[in-house]
Amino acid sequence: MHPENSATNADTAASPDSPVPLASPVPPVSPVPLAAPLSRTAGFAGALRQAVADGLLGEDRPVAGFLDTDGVRRSVSALREAFDAVPGAPVLHTFAAKASSLVPVLRLLAACGMGCEVASPGELRLAVEAGFTPDRIVLDSPAKTREELRLAMALGVAVNADNFAELRRIGELRPPESGSVFGLRVNPQVGGGSIGAMSTATATSKFGVALRDPGAREQVVQAFADRPWLTRLHAHVGSQGCPLELIAEGIAQTYLLAEEINETLGTRQVTGIDMGGGLPVNFDGEEDRPAFADYVRVLRAAAPGLFDGRYALVTEFGRSLLAKNGFIGARVEYTKDAGGRRIALTHAGAQVATRTVFMPDAWPLRVGAFDGEGLPRSGPPMVQDVAGPCCFAGDVVAHARELPELHEGDFVALYDTGAYYFSTPWAYNSLPRPAVYGFTHGGGADGRVRFATVRDAQTLDSVAAESGLAHADALTGPGRRP
Ligand SMILES: *Cc1c(COP(=O)(O)O)cnc(C)c1O
Repeated sequence: MHPENSATNADTAASPDSPVPLASPVPPVSPVPLAAPLSRTAGFAGALRQAVADGLLGEDRPVAGFLDTDGVRRSVSALREAFDAVPGAPVLHTFAAKASSLVPVLRLLAACGMGCEVASPGELRLAVEAGFTPDRIVLDSPAKTREELRLAMALGVAVNADNFAELRRIGELRPPESGSVFGLRVNPQVGGGSIGAMSTATATSKFGVALRDPGAREQVVQAFADRPWLTRLHAHVGSQGCPLELIAEGIAQTYLLAEEINETLGTRQVTGIDMGGGLPVNFDGEEDRPAFADYVRVLRAAAPGLFDGRYALVTEFGRSLLAKNGFIGARVEYTKDAGGRRIALTHAGAQVATRTVFMPDAWPLRVGAFDGEGLPRSGPPMVQDVAGPCCFAGDVVAHARELPELHEGDFVALYDTGAYYFSTPWAYNSLPRPAVYGFTHGGGADGRVRFATVRDAQTLDSVAAESGLAHADALTGPGRRP
């Protein structure tokens, strides 16, 4: 049930001419114990070895993504427990679909009881296909078209407007009986973190209404006064590279604005606060630092009133739920030396680790070295570059890294890549999207790792089709000047 909206959207959902098919409800999965049986790295090593033995990684399948599904469930439990530790506020935890835009992964999260935050028509479609009911979906796209807004409101998903112009558009298009909850995104302008591209609360950020600009606060209050159906404030202050205190300060500012609106209007019109996601991920070790509980502690200190039950809360975490539960496995095709540097040429580069390749200091990845059977390599450390298959010089996922010496036919594991990496491939060099597998340990009596295909590797037929094969003669055919 939507925390702010007790009316169900059953009518919209069941409508035969619903613009997207609604999947059947997702049966819940049983909870998993919070303590993992193995360290994450040991669990990944077991999975990599089994993947090699099962032929999921090898000469013909040189790169794939892997996701520890029990680990995902443990992360969801940790998120829930952190917020449940504060009695009072009802919370809808949504998962930011862009962090892992894969239907089976989204369905697993739906089965864990989560909602879904979407930021494009494609993500909305995936969320519906995954089985999230409209009352658990939040639409946050930065540049929503009229068509996208109409669809969202027909489905009854929550919509956060990015700006005043969009708010006016929603006012014009809003069906009188819409089951949607409407919010306004604000930018508290508390400043940025260490990665500019991940900092959404700078003075000139493209997101939300810039709250500290002259007259903006008054304009926001007036926008709520003019629209009794506007009941929520939304802020997503930053992601990777932002300190918790900075994020919490932005949420605290949003809370104070909600209080101000309600006091000025003399009624509790703002009933919900969507605090976004953005808990950063540590790339330097396998444990979660900071943990969700750390974030809740900092939030409570910054905005105690936020949790007293007067506001329904929504969260939109992405990377912090998935990143550390996934890894990329890739084969070493060749090794060579250049200018005194050893280089391992692997099949994992910018097509699956785009941010790391272009901003290696901001997105450093831990790398594991394995032999041709998938067993961890030991041996004296040697300085090596781990390079990818793309045709540009910068396609290196780890520079001058100390690792046991890699050999042709070995495998590398790129850790902490469960969010925004293999799920978000880049089509450079017409490299196919790699397969993705979910895995669990000890599903059966033999304790063997079991895999489930989440996404098939892209075929070359599909690569050609996506490259305009159907229009092959469009520029040279009869009547066209060559
Ligand atoms: C990207 C995004 C999120 C998720 O961010 P994470 O850093 O992955 O937690 C949540 N909300 C909005 C609006 C976003 O753009």
